[in-house]
Amino acid sequence: MKEITEQIQTIAARLFEEGKIDIFIAWEQGELDFQTKAYVARSKEDAKNLVFNEYAIYNTANMLLKFRDGHERIGIAVKGCDSRGIVRLLEDLQIKRERLYIVGIPCPGLKDPLAAARNYGGFNRQTEPDSLAGKCLECIQPNPVICDEIIGPEQSPRQQGDRFARVKEMEQMTPDERYDFWEKTLSTCIRCYACRQVCVACDCRTCIFDEMKPQWVGRESSTTDNMMYHLVKHAHMAGRCIECGECERVCPVNIPLMLLNQKLIKDVGAFYGGPEAGLQYVEGAKPPLSVYRIDDPDSFL
Ligand code: SF4
Ligand code: SF4
Ligand code: SF4
Repeated sequence: MKEITEQIQTIAARLFEEGKIDIFIAWEQGELDFQTKAYVARSKEDAKNLVFNEYAIYNTANMLLKFRDGHERIGIAVKGCDSRGIVRLLEDLQIKRERLYIVGIPCPGLKDPLAAARNYGGFNRQTEPDSLAGKCLECIQPNPVICDEIIGPEQSPRQQGDRFARVKEMEQMTPDERYDFWEKTLSTCIRCYACRQVCVACDCRTCIFDEMKPQWVGRESSTTDNMMYHLVKHAHMAGRCIECGECERVCPVNIPLMLLNQKLIKDVGAFYGGPEAGLQYVEGAKPPLSVYRIDDPDSFL
């Protein structure tokens, strides 16, 4: 990881020196144990603060939303999952390709800083080393799908066995059993919206859950309103979720959000085919549920 850090610093410094970028987005060491945060370098000198380490799991593509209305030329370091986030933003017309210089990192698999803080913080410290983050153990795309420059050799996908096994188990349940499962599970949601904030596919400028006039969904964390939140959030993910696993990773109450996302990925693949969201960038291409034709056979149009 040290070599990757050095290479990111060197590339960022070079891009600043050549006048090709105004900012460079990657990660920095945080103040807390296990914390590695997103970082925006604004000069060649700042490039010395960039790091890549075992906790650099945050999806850097999400940071681009903060700059979508500006004119900065942006250098950005991406892992496989982050690069799929960039494709998401390009397809959603949130950022222009010509504003980006993408430095790809074939990802060796990372650890979850939140899990590490839980395991090793406080009085109840574990002595066993923590393993890779759950999302990294199931990673299908460690290598960047879009980049201008790449650091290091390709990595192999880590996901093994039937990727949709958990979803298929759920599909075996009766509708009542499924409803009970989700009602019980989602009743623990505290509506902190961490899963929304960390999601690169949640790129609406005004989120329906923040609107007050009209207020579409109640603000309480009641089971009914929680279920409505998740229904709407995940309906908006259909054909768009890039499976970065960040939503599930940051959930403070361990709601298995990827079960919902993977069900959508499986069904969208079965109904519409084509490459999964964010796996390839074709200029002008749109995800399946983001296009309509005036002669669409469905009468609601
Ligand atoms: S999901 Fe894949 S690309 Fe993303 S951090 Fe984990 S191993 Fe790396
Ligand atoms: S991160 Fe978890 S608790 Fe917070 S809103 Fe999302 S599902 Fe609910
Ligand atoms: S819904 Fe979750 S897995 Fe999908 S893009 Fe958003 S954060 Fe990533």
